[in-house]
Amino acid sequence: MLAPRTFETLSVYYYMKYIILDLEWNTGYSKSAHRFVNEIIEFGAVKVDDSFQVVDEFSRLIAPRVKKRLSGRVKELTHLTNEDVADGADFLSVSRAFTEFVGDGAVMTWGTTDIHTLMENYLLYTNDNHIPFLHRYCDLQEYCEKAIDRYDEGNQIGLGRFAEIIGVEFSEEEQHRATADAYLSLKCLRHVLGGYPLESCLLQADCEAFYDRIQFKNYFITDLSSPDVDRAQLKFRCESCGKQARRMKKWRLRNKSFNADFYCQACDRRFSARVSFKKRYDGVKVTRKIIS
Ligand SMILES: [Zn+2]
Repeated sequence: MLAPRTFETLSVYYYMKYIILDLEWNTGYSKSAHRFVNEIIEFGAVKVDDSFQVVDEFSRLIAPRVKKRLSGRVKELTHLTNEDVADGADFLSVSRAFTEFVGDGAVMTWGTTDIHTLMENYLLYTNDNHIPFLHRYCDLQEYCEKAIDRYDEGNQIGLGRFAEIIGVEFSEEEQHRATADAYLSLKCLRHVLGGYPLESCLLQADCEAFYDRIQFKNYFITDLSSPDVDRAQLKFRCESCGKQARRMKKWRLRNKSFNADFYCQACDRRFSARVSFKKRYDGVKVTRKIIS
């Protein structure tokens, strides 16, 4: 159960372009920032029209500044070499070219990790974490999972795994380069399109509300006196007769959920019930269960 969305979603309009973006990055320690940063080394994107036909693509390497040597894992995954990326352009010039490429189109990424990494890179290079080319945004992972009725916040499906699930073929060799991953995301999107309304996953992104939302960390409420707890959710009915059952003991917190024993007088039946309250940006998700 979710409270009504307070966040504005957008309607899909004709002639809208969609830009499916994928990034590769390398982690290095920034002495000036005193922290590890995920430095973007590649932008890969494919642009499609409103019927999801490819109209353009974008592929640029970025020369890293913080750490010039790629980690073994990144080399292995991307097949990129230190020399490849050393010849790349600088982040801000790629950003300008990409901003032009996006225009007023909607940007899509598989999961929000790329968005967090972009914010981190803009913060590093411009001291401002806002993403200049982000006007409208869709998390493709969320959309595609919803379209096949497999959406579960706590268990996100990676792109390769998702392609396998829906039977979209891809070669492991081509994977993990930005443009190839963008194309694979597009294949998956095309395959599931129509399974869920796209506009409900399309967000206005050039506003503070978007950044608040994307940076919001969901958490479980562990105090029943919190104003976010709907007291009505603490009542349980007997599964046999449907009558309101009486709670016999105090609610106990166990593994982020509250547990209590109930008794139905009419049936002389005891049972345990469990309820959890997950605070999210756009409401509280309540999960209720009768255990025995
Ligand atoms: Zn009963």
